[in-house]
Amino acid sequence: MKKLIVGNWKMNGSLASNEALLQGFQQGLEAQDQSVLVALCASAPYLPQLQQLLGKGPIAWGAQDVSAHESGAYTGEVSAAMLRDFACRYAIVGHSERRQYHGETDEVVAAKAQRALAAGITPIVCVGETLAERDAGQTEAVVKRQLAAVIHTVGHCSSEMVVAYEPVWAIGTGRTATPEQAQVVHHVLRAQVAAATVNADKRVHILYGGSMNAANAASLLAMPDIDGGLIGGASLKVPDFLQIIRAAR
Ligand code: PGA
Repeated sequence: MKKLIVGNWKMNGSLASNEALLQGFQQGLEAQDQSVLVALCASAPYLPQLQQLLGKGPIAWGAQDVSAHESGAYTGEVSAAMLRDFACRYAIVGHSERRQYHGETDEVVAAKAQRALAAGITPIVCVGETLAERDAGQTEAVVKRQLAAVIHTVGHCSSEMVVAYEPVWAIGTGRTATPEQAQVVHHVLRAQVAAATVNADKRVHILYGGSMNAANAASLLAMPDIDGGLIGGASLKVPDFLQIIRAAR
Protein backbone atom coordinates (compact mmCIF):
# COMPACT_ATOMS: atom_id res chain seq x y z
CA MET A 1 0.00 0.00 0.00
CA LYS A 2 1.22 3.51 -0.80
CA LYS A 3 2.10 5.58 2.22
CA LEU A 4 0.15 8.79 2.84
CA ILE A 5 1.86 12.05 3.83
CA VAL A 6 -0.50 14.85 4.89
CA GLY A 7 0.63 18.39 5.65
CA ASN A 8 -1.38 20.23 8.30
CA TRP A 9 -0.64 23.91 7.86
CA LYS A 10 -2.73 24.85 10.90
CA MET A 11 -3.51 28.60 11.11
CA ASN A 12 -0.56 29.64 8.96
CA GLY A 13 -0.16 31.03 5.48
CA SER A 14 -1.18 33.80 3.12
CA LEU A 15 -2.03 33.79 -0.57
CA ALA A 16 1.58 34.68 -1.36
CA SER A 17 3.32 32.26 1.02
CA ASN A 18 0.95 29.41 0.08
CA GLU A 19 1.70 29.91 -3.59
CA ALA A 20 5.43 29.77 -2.97
CA LEU A 21 5.11 26.57 -0.92
CA LEU A 22 2.87 24.89 -3.49
CA GLN A 23 5.27 25.75 -6.29
CA GLY A 24 8.13 24.32 -4.29
CA PHE A 25 6.27 21.08 -3.56
CA GLN A 26 5.10 20.68 -7.14
CA GLN A 27 8.57 21.23 -8.57
CA GLY A 28 10.06 18.83 -6.04
CA LEU A 29 7.49 16.14 -6.73
CA GLU A 30 7.75 16.40 -10.51
CA ALA A 31 11.05 14.58 -10.38
CA GLN A 32 9.61 11.76 -8.27
CA ASP A 33 7.47 8.79 -9.15
CA GLN A 34 4.01 8.79 -7.65
CA SER A 35 4.61 6.06 -5.13
CA VAL A 36 3.49 8.21 -2.21
CA LEU A 37 0.06 9.80 -1.64
CA VAL A 38 0.43 13.46 -0.66
CA ALA A 39 -2.16 15.93 0.64
CA LEU A 40 -2.23 19.37 2.23
CA CYS A 41 -4.79 20.62 4.73
CA ALA A 42 -5.19 24.40 4.78
CA SER A 43 -7.42 26.92 6.52
CA ALA A 44 -10.86 27.14 4.87
CA PRO A 45 -10.37 30.49 3.07
CA TYR A 46 -7.44 29.04 1.13
CA LEU A 47 -9.21 25.94 -0.17
CA PRO A 48 -10.17 27.64 -3.49
CA GLN A 49 -6.51 28.56 -3.90
CA LEU A 50 -5.42 24.97 -3.35
CA GLN A 51 -8.09 23.76 -5.75
CA GLN A 52 -6.91 26.23 -8.38
CA LEU A 53 -3.18 25.66 -8.01
CA LEU A 54 -3.14 21.93 -7.35
CA GLY A 55 -5.91 21.18 -9.87
CA LYS A 56 -5.63 17.73 -11.30
CA GLY A 57 -2.04 17.26 -10.14
CA PRO A 58 -0.87 14.54 -7.78
CA ILE A 59 -1.24 16.54 -4.54
CA ALA A 60 -4.68 16.31 -2.92
CA TRP A 61 -6.06 18.88 -0.50
CA GLY A 62 -8.34 19.03 2.47
CA ALA A 63 -9.65 20.95 5.45
CA GLN A 64 -8.49 20.99 9.05
CA ASP A 65 -11.97 20.61 10.48
CA VAL A 66 -15.60 20.18 9.42
CA SER A 67 -18.89 20.95 11.11
CA ALA A 68 -20.76 18.23 12.95
CA HIS A 69 -23.97 19.73 11.53
CA GLU A 70 -25.35 19.43 8.04
CA SER A 71 -26.38 23.09 7.48
CA GLY A 72 -28.28 25.94 9.09
CA ALA A 73 -27.85 28.31 12.01
CA TYR A 74 -24.27 27.49 13.00
CA THR A 75 -22.41 30.76 12.62
CA GLY A 76 -18.79 30.35 11.65
CA GLU A 77 -19.03 26.66 10.81
CA VAL A 78 -18.03 25.07 7.51
CA SER A 79 -20.10 22.10 6.34
CA ALA A 80 -18.89 18.95 4.62
CA ALA A 81 -20.93 19.88 1.52
CA MET A 82 -19.08 23.21 1.34
CA LEU A 83 -15.75 21.38 1.49
CA ARG A 84 -16.98 19.09 -1.25
CA ASP A 85 -17.69 22.18 -3.41
CA PHE A 86 -13.96 22.86 -3.31
CA ALA A 87 -13.09 19.25 -4.11
CA CYS A 88 -11.56 18.49 -0.72
CA ARG A 89 -10.53 14.85 -0.50
CA TYR A 90 -9.78 14.96 3.23
CA ALA A 91 -10.91 16.64 6.43
CA ILE A 92 -8.96 16.36 9.66
CA VAL A 93 -11.30 15.71 12.59
CA GLY A 94 -10.56 15.59 16.29
CA HIS A 95 -7.14 17.20 16.14
CA SER A 96 -5.95 17.62 19.73
CA GLU A 97 -5.91 21.40 19.27
CA ARG A 98 -9.65 21.22 18.52
CA ARG A 99 -10.25 18.88 21.43
CA GLN A 100 -8.18 21.05 23.82
CA TYR A 101 -9.03 24.62 22.81
CA HIS A 102 -12.53 24.12 21.45
CA GLY A 103 -13.83 21.50 23.83
CA GLU A 104 -14.56 18.90 21.17
CA THR A 105 -15.73 15.68 22.78
CA ASP A 106 -15.38 12.17 21.36
CA GLU A 107 -19.04 12.36 20.33
CA VAL A 108 -18.59 15.65 18.44
CA VAL A 109 -15.52 14.25 16.68
CA ALA A 110 -17.50 11.15 15.72
CA ALA A 111 -20.32 13.27 14.30
CA LYS A 112 -17.79 15.24 12.26
CA ALA A 113 -16.27 12.05 10.87
CA GLN A 114 -19.72 10.86 9.89
CA ARG A 115 -20.56 14.15 8.14
CA ALA A 116 -17.35 13.98 6.15
CA LEU A 117 -17.98 10.39 5.09
CA ALA A 118 -21.55 11.19 4.05
CA ALA A 119 -20.19 13.91 1.75
CA GLY A 120 -17.60 11.59 0.22
CA ILE A 121 -14.70 13.16 2.10
CA THR A 122 -12.13 11.01 3.90
CA PRO A 123 -11.96 12.00 7.56
CA ILE A 124 -8.51 11.90 9.12
CA VAL A 125 -9.47 10.94 12.65
CA CYS A 126 -6.88 12.10 15.18
CA VAL A 127 -6.38 10.31 18.47
CA GLY A 128 -3.69 10.69 21.09
CA GLU A 129 -2.93 10.87 24.78
CA THR A 130 -1.64 13.78 26.86
CA LEU A 131 1.60 13.46 28.79
CA ALA A 132 -0.34 13.07 32.05
CA GLU A 133 -2.35 10.24 30.52
CA ARG A 134 0.80 8.53 29.25
CA ASP A 135 2.47 8.86 32.64
CA ALA A 136 -0.62 7.36 34.26
CA GLY A 137 -0.39 4.34 31.94
CA GLN A 138 -3.61 5.27 30.13
CA THR A 139 -2.32 5.65 26.57
CA GLU A 140 -3.98 2.54 25.18
CA ALA A 141 -7.30 3.18 26.92
CA VAL A 142 -7.44 6.80 25.74
CA VAL A 143 -6.74 6.16 22.05
CA LYS A 144 -9.10 3.18 21.99
CA ARG A 145 -11.88 5.23 23.59
CA GLN A 146 -11.39 8.06 21.08
CA LEU A 147 -11.45 5.73 18.08
CA ALA A 148 -14.31 3.62 19.48
CA ALA A 149 -16.56 6.69 19.53
CA VAL A 150 -16.05 7.17 15.79
CA ILE A 151 -16.49 3.48 14.98
CA HIS A 152 -19.67 3.40 17.08
CA THR A 153 -21.22 6.40 15.31
CA VAL A 154 -20.16 5.43 11.80
CA GLY A 155 -21.01 1.78 12.45
CA HIS A 156 -17.78 0.37 11.05
CA CYS A 157 -14.29 1.22 9.86
CA SER A 158 -13.17 1.21 6.24
CA SER A 159 -10.41 2.48 3.99
CA GLU A 160 -12.65 5.52 3.39
CA MET A 161 -11.27 6.62 6.74
CA VAL A 162 -7.76 7.50 7.90
CA VAL A 163 -6.61 7.30 11.52
CA ALA A 164 -3.81 9.51 12.86
CA TYR A 165 -2.04 8.74 16.12
CA GLU A 166 -0.78 12.04 17.49
CA PRO A 167 0.53 11.95 21.05
CA VAL A 168 -0.35 15.40 22.39
CA TRP A 169 3.04 15.73 24.10
CA ALA A 170 4.80 15.33 20.74
CA ILE A 171 2.86 17.96 18.78
CA GLY A 172 4.86 21.07 17.99
CA THR A 173 7.21 20.30 20.86
CA GLY A 174 10.16 18.84 18.97
CA ARG A 175 9.70 15.79 21.18
CA THR A 176 8.84 12.88 18.89
CA ALA A 177 7.61 9.50 20.02
CA THR A 178 10.34 6.95 19.34
CA PRO A 179 9.51 4.63 16.45
CA GLU A 180 9.05 1.81 18.98
CA GLN A 181 6.71 3.89 21.20
CA ALA A 182 4.63 4.85 18.19
CA GLN A 183 4.56 1.28 16.83
CA VAL A 184 3.14 -0.05 20.11
CA VAL A 185 0.16 2.31 19.83
CA HIS A 186 -0.25 1.81 16.08
CA HIS A 187 -0.41 -1.94 16.68
CA VAL A 188 -3.23 -1.44 19.18
CA LEU A 189 -5.10 0.81 16.74
CA ARG A 190 -4.53 -1.67 13.89
CA ALA A 191 -6.24 -4.41 15.89
CA GLN A 192 -9.15 -2.12 16.78
CA VAL A 193 -9.55 -1.03 13.16
CA ALA A 194 -9.31 -4.62 11.89
CA ALA A 195 -12.07 -5.76 14.24
CA ALA A 196 -14.39 -3.06 12.86
CA THR A 197 -13.40 -3.09 9.20
CA VAL A 198 -15.88 -4.01 6.49
CA ASN A 199 -13.69 -4.16 3.37
CA ALA A 200 -10.88 -6.07 5.03
CA ASP A 201 -8.95 -6.40 1.76
CA LYS A 202 -8.12 -2.70 1.83
CA ARG A 203 -5.82 -1.59 4.61
CA VAL A 204 -6.78 1.52 6.59
CA HIS A 205 -3.99 4.14 6.67
CA ILE A 206 -2.81 4.77 10.23
CA LEU A 207 -0.60 7.87 10.26
CA TYR A 208 1.80 9.08 12.92
CA GLY A 209 1.90 12.78 13.79
CA GLY A 210 3.89 14.80 16.29
CA SER A 211 7.16 16.50 15.41
CA MET A 212 7.78 14.23 12.43
CA ASN A 213 10.59 15.85 10.44
CA ALA A 214 13.18 15.28 7.74
CA ALA A 215 15.55 13.61 10.19
CA ASN A 216 13.21 11.19 11.96
CA ALA A 217 10.67 10.37 9.22
CA ALA A 218 12.48 7.37 7.75
CA SER A 219 12.78 5.50 11.04
CA LEU A 220 9.14 6.18 11.99
CA LEU A 221 7.86 5.20 8.54
CA ALA A 222 9.87 1.96 8.65
CA MET A 223 7.64 0.63 11.44
CA PRO A 224 5.23 -2.09 10.25
CA ASP A 225 2.03 -0.32 11.35
CA ILE A 226 2.95 3.28 10.46
CA ASP A 227 1.40 4.00 7.05
CA GLY A 228 2.33 7.66 6.73
CA GLY A 229 2.51 10.94 8.59
CA LEU A 230 0.47 13.97 9.58
CA ILE A 231 2.97 16.79 9.46
CA GLY A 232 2.58 20.21 11.06
CA GLY A 233 5.65 22.42 11.30
CA ALA A 234 7.71 20.60 8.67
CA SER A 235 4.94 20.98 6.06
CA LEU A 236 5.64 24.71 6.03
CA LYS A 237 9.17 24.16 4.72
CA VAL A 238 9.71 22.92 1.17
CA PRO A 239 12.93 20.91 1.64
CA ASP A 240 11.73 19.32 4.88
CA PHE A 241 8.35 18.25 3.54
CA LEU A 242 9.90 16.88 0.34
CA GLN A 243 12.42 14.94 2.41
CA ILE A 244 9.60 13.36 4.44
CA ILE A 245 7.81 12.38 1.22
CA ARG A 246 11.04 10.85 -0.07
CA ALA A 247 11.39 8.90 3.17
CA ALA A 248 7.92 7.43 2.56
CA ARG A 249 8.79 5.88 -0.81
P1 PGA B 1 3.85 19.01 14.32
O1 PGA B 1 2.24 18.95 14.24
O2 PGA B 1 4.36 18.19 13.17
O3 PGA B 1 4.18 20.46 14.19
O4 PGA B 1 4.22 18.43 15.65
C1 PGA B 1 1.58 17.78 13.88
C2 PGA B 1 0.09 17.98 13.98
O5 PGA B 1 -0.36 18.63 14.92
O6 PGA B 1 -0.68 17.51 13.09
